[in-house]
Amino acid sequence: MTIRGHLKFRYRLMIWGVMMTPVLGLSWLYSSTPLNHSFRSASIAIVEIAVMLLFLATFRCPNCHKNLSTISRQVLFNPGFCNCPHCGINLEQTT
Ligand SMILES: [Zn+2]
Repeated sequence: MTIRGHLKFRYRLMIWGVMMTPVLGLSWLYSSTPLNHSFRSASIAIVEIAVMLLFLATFRCPNCHKNLSTISRQVLFNPGFCNCPHCGINLEQTT
């Protein structure tokens, strides 16, 4: 798998986490636990934010381990963006 492919896999994993958290949370939200509704809604929102922050924190170059989250859109969707800006490794190189 290429470095870009690996980073795209992480992105898809984050999208799945963001999409599945409310789906799984809905069953908990409407279950008959004694916790109040706003607490459960806030918990689901916190998990959503945690999934996104986890993605941002782990979106790193596998070669130099520097964070690429500020340029994640270019890395993921711009095929003309070919190199890591920190170490210069080609993103189409296999890991
Ligand atoms: Zn790098």
